Amino acid sequence: MNFELSEEQLAVRQAAREFAQTELLPGVIERDEHQKFPAEQIKKLGELGFLGMMVDPKYGGSGMDTVSYVLAMEEISKVDASASVVMSVNNSLVCWGLETFGSEEQKQKYLVPLATGEKIGAFLLSEPEAGSDATSQHTTAEDKGDHYVLNGIKNWITNGNSASTYLVIAQTHPEKKHKGINVFIVDKNTPGITVGAKENKMGIRGSDTHSISFQDVIVPKENRIGEDGFGFKFAMQTLSGGRIGIASQALGIASGALELALKYSKERKAFGTEIMNHQAVAFKLADMATQVEAARLFCLKAAWLKDQHANFDVAGSMAKLYASQIAQTVTSEAVQIHGGYGYVKEFHVERLMRDAKITQIYEGTSEVQKIVISRSLLK
Ligand SMILES: Cc1cc2nc3c(=O)[nH]c(=O)nc-3n(C[C@H](O)[C@H](O)[C@H](O)COP(=O)(O)OP(=O)(O)OC[C@H]3O[C@@H](n4cnc5c(N)ncnc54)[C@H](O)[C@@H]3O)c2cc1C
Repeated sequence: MNFELSEEQLAVRQAAREFAQTELLPGVIERDEHQKFPAEQIKKLGELGFLGMMVDPKYGGSGMDTVSYVLAMEEISKVDASASVVMSVNNSLVCWGLETFGSEEQKQKYLVPLATGEKIGAFLLSEPEAGSDATSQHTTAEDKGDHYVLNGIKNWITNGNSASTYLVIAQTHPEKKHKGINVFIVDKNTPGITVGAKENKMGIRGSDTHSISFQDVIVPKENRIGEDGFGFKFAMQTLSGGRIGIASQALGIASGALELALKYSKERKAFGTEIMNHQAVAFKLADMATQVEAARLFCLKAAWLKDQHANFDVAGSMAKLYASQIAQTVTSEAVQIHGGYGYVKEFHVERLMRDAKITQIYEGTSEVQKIVISRSLLK
């Protein structure tokens, strides 16, 4: 067993750290307040190769491993979780799904601009009545011979307005239940697509979350990914990898809060000494650091398994369950260590506390992760 990172992995982490500090930190409070999508910053992330990190260079990607992806996600999420969710969706859901299951033609046409960051992608699975139970898709894709016709509504879609390429999950054969579901590559500007208003969220407020409706949207047959009925498997396998990205986002939110709390505890004085000298504060920091390190090890193990082409489903679920859980406590303790200053925007920790919550909800709630883990234990 070797816990050492390679030179390349260390360099990726350093590049992500510098990018977060120089490009994301300025303006992060205003973007959160005004729900402003970090468009310029995302463009630069793409130019640096962070939007197609694990994609083969022959398709415009950076050809890195999943461990590097976790390291970069942690650094970006420490500062701006609204930017890191764009990175996570584009890398783990859209690019990975296309590269793993798309045809050569689909990869040339759609993966290359997504991996280079020229375009952004979105993953459209959830519906008003299909969240945790993703099998109950109401969006239909009627087979018309050489094309499909899509009708229905998707909601909570990250990058809903800023994406150019959608991966849409829809039901073709309701009698076959989840085995009748398909997945399609759809251009956002196809006639019949309407993007709803931006959701006014508690956290990750800069990210672009919308409902998307489809009314008689024509999609050519060659835009279906995989065999007829492959859509549900596609969604589940893609989300399994996506969980490593969201676990790393939760890790980054927690470790960002820990760094801020450490710094503050060395500066702030109470009762004639820096607050770090009060054991109650020092013990909080010890607990926070232990939890962050455990979450980091969970994320890296899941990533390593994925890089070894081993099964990482349970490891990814455990990483997401644990990292998202400790992100709640660590960010809350960081606010506590900041006292009243933690409760206002200038000190960043209140935003991290708000951002942390979503990591227990999207890409499978904590309860869904427990279903995955317990099923594997009990089978
Ligand atoms: C900001 C944001 C961004 C998102 N981005 C995307 C995106 O890009 N693409 C996309 O497709 N979706 C996205 N989602 C949707 C997200 O994945 C769903 O909200 C999530 O899967 C939960 O579904 P739901 O909201 O319908 O809750 P429900 O499924 O209705 O769950 C409600 C509660 O019941 C619990 N529950 C449900 N079933 C069970 C069970 N069997 N056992 C135990 N407990 C259960 C849940 O854990 C939860 O606590 C996003 C959501 C948000 C808020």
